[in-house]
Amino acid sequence: MLSEFHPNDPALRSFIEAGSTSHFPIQNLPYGVFSTPRKSTPRVGVAIGDQILDLSVIEKAGLFEFECFDSTLAKSSLNAFMALGPSTWSRTRRRISKLLQHDNPELRDNEQLRVEAFDRIESATLHLPIVVAGYTDFYSSKEHATNVGVMFRGASNALQANWLHIPIGYNGRGSTVVVSGTPIHRPKGQLKSASEDAPRFGPTTRLDFELELAAIVGQGSEMGSMLTEQRAEEMIFGFALLNDWSARDIQQWEYVPLGPFQGKAFGTSLSPWIVTREALEPFRVPGPGQAPAPLPYLQQTGQNNYDIQLVVDLVPAELQTARRIAQTNFSYMYWSPVQQLMHHASSGCSMQIGDVLGSGTISGPERSQCGSMLELSWNGAEPLGLGNGMTRSFLEDGDRVCLSGWCQGDGYRIGFGEVEGTILPPRDV
Ligand code: MN
Repeated sequence: MLSEFHPNDPALRSFIEAGSTSHFPIQNLPYGVFSTPRKSTPRVGVAIGDQILDLSVIEKAGLFEFECFDSTLAKSSLNAFMALGPSTWSRTRRRISKLLQHDNPELRDNEQLRVEAFDRIESATLHLPIVVAGYTDFYSSKEHATNVGVMFRGASNALQANWLHIPIGYNGRGSTVVVSGTPIHRPKGQLKSASEDAPRFGPTTRLDFELELAAIVGQGSEMGSMLTEQRAEEMIFGFALLNDWSARDIQQWEYVPLGPFQGKAFGTSLSPWIVTREALEPFRVPGPGQAPAPLPYLQQTGQNNYDIQLVVDLVPAELQTARRIAQTNFSYMYWSPVQQLMHHASSGCSMQIGDVLGSGTISGPERSQCGSMLELSWNGAEPLGLGNGMTRSFLEDGDRVCLSGWCQGDGYRIGFGEVEGTILPPRDV
């Protein structure tokens, strides 16, 4: 019988040390998929301190006694585990927490099992943790939508008439969602500036990042069915950092009238660790307040936003030293992930295990809180200073962008790790 404890209790300690600024203390336990030189087959693990607990080893050792897992955790993605549903996610997290607690000898004192079950994160290859079923990207930061509107339509007409009523989104490409660390080639596309008579095909000159959070859908819904607030929430397995790389010049020419297409389709980077919805519970906050009131099918009674601190670091090609270029918070988001999911299914659109819902670029009220170069450089009109006379309006070849985020608890952090990517020159073919 399990003793009474809560996996989110700030007082819990593990026999695997994690300092106060570690992203992965025992209160977090994010899921990922990894391999190492001695474990060439990718399998499921959780991050704890600077280590990974290999859950396939724990499963094989019979330590998840309450459930027949059928080697679910030896698979190369989390999809089969997510399919088991929220009550299993919860029990599994609780069991892992128990196994890692400092006063539990089960794993701590089993030297042979410990050697097999722990690997250093540093020496592991982290893989895309899910098979992406579909990727949908939203546009749910009022600050971001207003900034973009002011730049392209003027201050009097900044928000489109539908924005306060609908979580605006588009169906992106799941095929080019890649794990953090995957380099991104500068994409080519149709370009036409205002001064040009006809479009031409070539590399983008306005390559951008977008700071986003991805909601990972862990349960499906039937075609034709709508979702209640509670069901939508239960379907979300967890969250990861997402960089929705964007080519602004391609986007600007192509987006009329159906929205983004190739300007967003060439690559989207996901962080390797999925932080569970449960681990974020202590950091729930209300959203910014919605007026006019959303239509009944979008109304929520819960606090469905989270207090997540987010930072953007840029390593310019010519410098190779990180510059912090933005710092913001997820709590600014106008439409919550639960509302996005309720809206997504509202037409009868079925959701699938492995769907990725991008929050949309996360921006706050200040310029330094903006989650894209488009806003930070005000569409190139006010290039961002990086020190030593260096500036950027958009990304250059060799630039590296690193997004990170965490919830700050009292003496501990629930962190997301990071998602990073380096821009490579365009491919020849
Ligand atoms: Mn986006």
